[in-house]
Parts: sequence; C-alpha cells; structure tokens
Amino acid sequence: MKTMTRLAIAGFAALAIAGAGTTAAQAQAFPTKPVTMLIPFAAGGPTDVVGRLVGEHMARTLGQPVIIENAVGAAGTLAGQRLMSSAPDGHVILIGHTGTHAAAVSLNPNLKYKPLEDFAPVGLVNTNPIFLTVKKTHPSQTLTEFVTWLKANEKTATNAHAGIGSVSHTTCLLFNTVLGVKPNGVPYRGTGPAMTDLVAGQIDYLCDQAVNVAPQERAGTIRTLAVASDERAVFLPNVPTSTEGGVPGFKVAVWNAMFAPKDTPPAVVAKLNQALKAALADAGVKGKLQELGADVPVPALLEPAGLRGFIGAEIEKWAPIIKASGVRIE
Ligand code: ASP
Repeated sequence: MKTMTRLAIAGFAALAIAGAGTTAAQAQAFPTKPVTMLIPFAAGGPTDVVGRLVGEHMARTLGQPVIIENAVGAAGTLAGQRLMSSAPDGHVILIGHTGTHAAAVSLNPNLKYKPLEDFAPVGLVNTNPIFLTVKKTHPSQTLTEFVTWLKANEKTATNAHAGIGSVSHTTCLLFNTVLGVKPNGVPYRGTGPAMTDLVAGQIDYLCDQAVNVAPQERAGTIRTLAVASDERAVFLPNVPTSTEGGVPGFKVAVWNAMFAPKDTPPAVVAKLNQALKAALADAGVKGKLQELGADVPVPALLEPAGLRGFIGAEIEKWAPIIKASGVRIE
C-alpha cells in the first residue's frame, strides 16, 4: 500500500514537472497560430478602430496575424462570454471597455462574467473623452439650446446607443439623468452604425467617444455640442466643455482595455503585454491615436496588475451612477 502511495506520489510529481515544462514551452512558443482579437461591437466604431490599429502592430511583434472578429451582442457582453470559453493560451484576446468591464456589473444582474475574476488583464489600451453630438440639421446650435429643446421634446427625441450598458448608453444616461429626461433610446450594434445614422440625420443625438466623433466633426457632418470634461480637448478646441454649456454634472471619460482568458499562463500574458506596449510606443500608432483623441495610458495602467486595480475602482465608480439612474437590465 505504502509503495503504491509512494509510486502514485512520484507519478504525480513527474506529471506536474512535465506539465510545468509544457506550460513554459507553450509560453515560449506562443503564438503558434493567428491570434483572434474579439471586438464586442460593430466594425467602424471606436472599439473596432482602436483594436485594428493596435492589433495590426501587435501582429508584427508577435510574428502571427491578429484577426479581428466583431463578436457583437448583448451590449458587448457576449464577446466576454466568448473569451471565457476560449482556450487560455493567448490565441483569443478581447478589447473591452468601460461598459463591458465596469458599468455592466451594476447594470446587469445576469451578467455572465465577473470582470475581475474571469479574465486575465493584459493592459489598458487608451482613454477617450466623450462628446455629445447632434445631427447637423438639429435646431440646437449650443448645449444650452439643446437642453431647452430636449426638455421640451423628450417624448419624441431619439438618442442612439450601442445597447443597454454600452458606453454610449451609460454616458448619455448620465446626461439624461442630470437633466431628468427620458428620451427614446435607439439601440445599434455599435456606434459605427449609430454614427452613420446620425450623419444621415435619422437620429437626434449620440454620446460617443472621440475616436468616432473627431473625424466626423472635422468633416462637418455632425454638430458636436460639448465635451464631457473640465477642459476642452486639444484636438477639437472649438467644442465647449459641458460646464461652459451649463451642464457641469456631465463629466465622463472612457477607456478600452485588453484581456485574455483567466488561466492564460503569465508568460503568455507578458508576451501579449509587450506586444501591446510596443504598439502604443510606435510613433505611427501613437500619432493616429492622438489624432483620434485617444490618450495612451500612463505606464502603471499598461501593466496587468495596474489594470486590475483600475478596473476595480471603475466598477465602484459606476455603481452609484447606475443606481441613481434607476436603469437595470432584467
Ligand atoms: N463605443 C461604443 C459604445 O460602447 C461601442 C463601439 O465601439 O462601437 O457605445
């Protein structure tokens, strides 16, 4: 019996050593095939644009293609579920954001994942100011005029968003809550298609990230009434702040971050992290992000541990905002 036990222990030990060897070898060999980057929203929107920009450079560092897959659904949370069921070997990664990995926790009691427990954070990709935009033909020329218009027309006003819990939804929810209005929400698969409809004049307003707003505002296809921050954005200096427009309570910025499945070996996460850092340090990528109004994160948030702490704080930050709005996904 004793011999059997000893043998069994020896066997387990040998297996464990062989297993550790395999993990280290796997990490060293990673990636052995193309890496799939899950984007929780439609092509052409801010998450997609940032993901493609960074993914294209990461492919060069990793020596394998990075294939973008727009895994759209449930306000971006479906992609998180996909990541959870993917092999934890680094070949499937995800770009999440303030909505999918922070606000969704308070909004959605049936959220199928816990952002802090079910994923391996890789690094923060960018932060991004939020702008309030209206269709070009809208009668309001300023935020103050828009507030008056919206209060008088809330029953017919249309507010586009990328699904309940998306960034465009939660940030405009903050704006609408500050004003005490409940307009008609119009859900899209992402703010790429929502912006197309805003440009076409089919909806009244949209709260969206700089990445999507800046090119349209520069092209003069929409009217941008405010940036939801204390300071004007350097890349769109003519757009007043929400405080200048009389709605100081509307202040919010959002972020995108990269995740791998939970049990991804730390050495694989480190390789992904290095590739992300290399992309963000590249002058071309950096320049393009800056032109789109996306800020590269401070170094601490580029580290997996820093990102984990940041997301914990963001989940806490969004809880009272969501609670005050009274909105909940059932
Ligand atoms: N930024 C969008 C949102 O959450 C989604 C997208 O990137 O298309 O509202």
